[in-house]
Amino acid sequence: MTYDNFPLIDHHCHGAVKKPVDTDSFARLMSESFRPAPEGTDPFLKPLGLAVRKHCAPLLDVDPLAPMSAYLEKRDAVGPEEVNRRFLKAANVTSFLVDTGHCTDELLSPAEIESLSGVPSFEVVRIEAVMETVAGQASSAADFRQKFEALLFERCKNAVGLKSVVAYRCTFAIDQTRPSQSDVDAAFDVWRSQTPEGKSFRVEDPILVRYGLWVGADLARPRRLPIQLHVGIGDPDVYMHACDPTHFTDFLRDMEAWEIPITLLHNYPFVREAAWLSEIFQNVYYDVGVILHFTGASAQRQMDEALELAPFSKHMFSSDAFGLPEFHYLGALFFRRTLAHRLESWVRDGACTINDAEQIAKAISADNARRIYQLEV
Ligand SMILES: [Zn+2]
Repeated sequence: MTYDNFPLIDHHCHGAVKKPVDTDSFARLMSESFRPAPEGTDPFLKPLGLAVRKHCAPLLDVDPLAPMSAYLEKRDAVGPEEVNRRFLKAANVTSFLVDTGHCTDELLSPAEIESLSGVPSFEVVRIEAVMETVAGQASSAADFRQKFEALLFERCKNAVGLKSVVAYRCTFAIDQTRPSQSDVDAAFDVWRSQTPEGKSFRVEDPILVRYGLWVGADLARPRRLPIQLHVGIGDPDVYMHACDPTHFTDFLRDMEAWEIPITLLHNYPFVREAAWLSEIFQNVYYDVGVILHFTGASAQRQMDEALELAPFSKHMFSSDAFGLPEFHYLGALFFRRTLAHRLESWVRDGACTINDAEQIAKAISADNARRIYQLEV
């Protein structure tokens, strides 16, 4: 019996780049840093580089572990559309839930992902991106609130969830209550006056971020739409220690009272904290997206940590793939392998039955996501 052939829902990913990707851009997309690798070093000599050379090469008819230069040469010859198609299809997932709030114009839209992969894609709306869209159009703070709330409502009509990057923008170590209207208006006036003419708006003020989160919660509540929270790895300019999700306990508790599912995304290096929160709160879910392919040959350790304590009804799959379709593929590949490996060993050791293992695999792979995002079967 294998445990790696169950339907798989990628509950958090982004689009792949539509244009050709040169070596420097490929190296940038393979890195979590804004900084290039130090002069004289190889940017691909890391676990993720090995994973691409080993597991992605055969899909482009390149020998496994051939030099990265040979891989990139062939990738270029195949062309971006076909590369995107091959890897999205090879991920072999049942559906993709796509965060459309970052680099929207350069990346494949949910509809384009759907057409290349041949499986349904659903949109998750990023709250801060909607706020940044309306900030420059508002004639006053009251107009800003009106425009933001109307557009968020409109954008969420066909969405399956919302997302916030509160931890990127102001960490989790903040006041988590709903800000007063006068505080929001004052914060908006400062934001607008401090954003130079022609420069795009980036919301970082905790008052405005909290306002967005609570408006999102108002909207999510009647439909029980999940709210995704970015946790830990994902942006280089954060104070990582303050992106520990246990700082956000008060908000998680408030959302539990409103029966809104909260999904903690990626979580590295706070996987244990996220798993513990999901054990405590009825409404908290978590995944280990992005880190399975970033750790590559060591991915089993990440999966094992994710499996060690929390209810299996709270753990989900995401690739958190961004930019390169290789990551949609590798995320699914490492998830399936490491989960199957551990469940097989548990059955062998008598820690669970074959039926238990099947039930766990189905829950984590797709059933949990299908349930909370209310996806059609
Ligand atoms: Zn992401």
